Amino acid sequence: MNDLTEEQIRTELALILDRRSADTRLSTMGAGSDDLDEGRRYLANTVRDGWHVPTWPREHGGQDASAHQNSLIGRVLREFVVPDLYPFAIGLGMVGPALLQHGTEVQQRDWLKPIASGEAIWCQMFSEPEAGSDLANVALTAQQDGDEWILGGQKTWTSRAMWADWAICLARTDPTQPKHKGLTMFAIPMSLSGVEIRPLMQMNRDAHFSEVFVDGARISDQCRIGDVGEGWRVAMTVLAHERAGGGSRGGGDGNARGLKLPSWVADLQVLVGEQSSDWRNKVAAIYARDTTSRWTAQRAGDEARSTGSPGPAGSGAKLRTVNSYKSRSYLANRTAGAHGMLEDGHGYIETLTAPSMSIRGGTDEIQRNILGERVLGLPGEPRLDRDVSWSESRRGLI
Ligand SMILES: Cc1cc2nc3c(=O)[nH]c(=O)nc-3n(C[C@H](O)[C@H](O)[C@H](O)COP(=O)(O)OP(=O)(O)OC[C@H]3O[C@@H](n4cnc5c(N)ncnc54)[C@H](O)[C@@H]3O)c2cc1C
Repeated sequence: MNDLTEEQIRTELALILDRRSADTRLSTMGAGSDDLDEGRRYLANTVRDGWHVPTWPREHGGQDASAHQNSLIGRVLREFVVPDLYPFAIGLGMVGPALLQHGTEVQQRDWLKPIASGEAIWCQMFSEPEAGSDLANVALTAQQDGDEWILGGQKTWTSRAMWADWAICLARTDPTQPKHKGLTMFAIPMSLSGVEIRPLMQMNRDAHFSEVFVDGARISDQCRIGDVGEGWRVAMTVLAHERAGGGSRGGGDGNARGLKLPSWVADLQVLVGEQSSDWRNKVAAIYARDTTSRWTAQRAGDEARSTGSPGPAGSGAKLRTVNSYKSRSYLANRTAGAHGMLEDGHGYIETLTAPSMSIRGGTDEIQRNILGERVLGLPGEPRLDRDVSWSESRRGLI
């Protein structure tokens, strides 16, 4: 399809989606919401013409769009009601792009379209009790047995596990190799015998993330994503896309067309009544940061989608986006005064959700390390276990 103009995109989208109005309110990042249906309806509606993942190949639910066309679509989509796609975001924003880069033709054929259409939810089984920031320390094992692999171990903080049909799972296949080298990536069906999901409750009372225990679960070698021992490379693709925010389109921060101020400011204006100059200054500062953060995230996202490899810019984008989310949530909650302490208070859920933003997808400190080392060229952290076999380093020899 030739590139469409902004107006043509708007006309096409108006045929299948409702326009946002000043009253449209949606949750973001699943905060306080367990609704899967709206997201499923929206994705089923948009998949035929590839509107939600335009850069994906047409046969997999995209429209082979250029990076430029993709940003234009993203901008126009903000004028329409795009529900909170949090339950689907790992598939759309992280697993999909990783499969396009590392998956076999069969894997792409079988898994991408169900992701784009909302039929299949994916989760990300990377973190473990002793492998969070130090992700390469993953201990869940996969042992080859003919054409199958047998998995055993524990993952934790697995967001959306209880909704998920599939997980992308980082496993240790060779403990004699140094920690980054003995890893392999797999896709595992969550309904598999030997996989047990135990939801954990966050302080905002969402139970969206879980511990996952795996004991003797068997998967076919066809579920291996990338070569044996190449799991770290695949994991880096997934994480770079996570930081660049490739899956985060959708949710509650869009604007009706023509509105000068975003809806979160309009909401606050109703709450404050008399506006002090101090309050106006705070709003203006957040608004300015929010706008640059959006541009940075868009640039990192476009880079990710057009090159397939987002690079360290995603870390800058993640830091800014997190900062923005937190500032908006805290200001909204403080503006609501005492009522903000109640569960239906303005900004209450967002305020209780905000601290987790600095942890999920890699902590703020880790993003700063990446920027320091890979963008600013500062000396790297000492990494004493880089060339030692993983099993030796686990025994505390270094
Ligand atoms: C809401 C939420 C959802 C999540 N969803 C998922 C998911 O779906 N899938 C998944 O696999 N994981 C998920 N995670 C896990 C997340 O990626 C980890 O929590 C994160 O990487 C930090 O790891 P950790 O919790 O083990 O903390 P640790 O790594 O133990 O870190 C503890 C503290 O030490 C600091 N620190 C550690 N190493 C360094 C260093 N080298 N330099 C400076 N500071 C350092 C950290 O910044 C942090 O402040 C989620 C987490 C949250 C909170």
